[in-house]
Amino acid sequence: MSAMNSSETAAAVPESDIRFASRMTVEQVEEGTDLAPKFDEHGLIPCVTTAAGSGEVLMLGYMNEEALKRTIATGEAHYWSRSRKLLWHKGASSGLVQRVVELRIDDDQDAVWLRVEIPGDASCHVGYRSCFYRSVPTGMNAGNGDFTRTLKFEESEKMFDPVAVYGDVPNPTQL
Ligand SMILES: [Zn+2]
Repeated sequence: MSAMNSSETAAAVPESDIRFASRMTVEQVEEGTDLAPKFDEHGLIPCVTTAAGSGEVLMLGYMNEEALKRTIATGEAHYWSRSRKLLWHKGASSGLVQRVVELRIDDDQDAVWLRVEIPGDASCHVGYRSCFYRSVPTGMNAGNGDFTRTLKFEESEKMFDPVAVYGDVPNPTQL
């Protein structure tokens, strides 16, 4: 197990105190105050994470029930790593812990939105601020029908050196 599996975060609320409501009616789910998240067939719920200050999209991750509960309990973002198949306390290795400013859930409660603050203002393990540091030219911006699938870098430099920060922790990106 890597250090990324750290679960030593001090919880403000015991996880066992966090219970999700059963999904009974559309009105309850859409208009009510019950937290009744819907996990998919893999037991996961997608989570979009943005920077609380700038609104920039930082990453898209997934949470299982435990990750969502631990995020609620600790006020720090936890995800389920699909590549490593483990509970992932974001920032446990790098120090770039995501402090949750606000956690929202969408209308049908099958997606969550985290607004976070991160020391160092960097989120991506590659070293960039956002995981979405490249764009794909589309439509008018693609120019002359030349869809070359060439990615354009939208961040000019890395916020940190991943080798210095992660050392020999295995890269989570899988081919
Ligand atoms: Zn990333």
